[in-house]
Amino acid sequence: MINLILFGKPGSGKGTQSEFVKGKYDLIHISTGDLFRNNILNNTDLGLLAKSYMEKGDLVPDEVTIKMLEAEVNKHSNANGFIFDGFPRTTVQAEILDQFLSTLKLSISMTIALEVDENLLIDRLINRGKDSGRADDQDRSKIQNRFEEYNNKTSPLINYYKNQNKFFEVNGVGDVNEISARIFKTIDNNI
Ligand code: AMP
Repeated sequence: MINLILFGKPGSGKGTQSEFVKGKYDLIHISTGDLFRNNILNNTDLGLLAKSYMEKGDLVPDEVTIKMLEAEVNKHSNANGFIFDGFPRTTVQAEILDQFLSTLKLSISMTIALEVDENLLIDRLINRGKDSGRADDQDRSKIQNRFEEYNNKTSPLINYYKNQNKFFEVNGVGDVNEISARIFKTIDNNI
């Protein structure tokens, strides 16, 4: 069983690449951002709560996010493995994910970080916002806040996974197929 985390700043291509990885290794793709957006579309209580944070580019509180993630994993007890996209984003989330997976006799196999320069990400996000209509992609100050959330709260996870020898970096710039080839190679060489 392979359980992967795709890690990277907003706009680094986690969602796109997760779909490629999911197809190749037959994994369940769990994107906490997509789950929140679906809840917002369906006007659920969770969606209403998440919206107030997401609109500003702030992280949604750990407690809510973790509960949603665990429920999603529990829906797929026969899975071959999971690809976590946009989760964990804080040390607390990472610690609880490890504990939760161990109760299922599972563990994280590896974390792959997509490396892209912030200036390039801003262009990518603004362009994506034009097509998707995502409010958090259309405003430079919200994008900047998401980078700050990443740098303050998410980047400590690099050392968390390095300490477990589970952290790998992949160049996230270039053609999407080239990037997925780099990811596949990293997985196949290190799994
Ligand atoms: P994403 O689609 O991964 O860029 O996530 C969009 C937004 O959803 C983020 O800016 C956060 O507000 C929220 N979000 C997604 N995943 C998480 C998470 N693991 N922890 C907290 N907030 C999250």
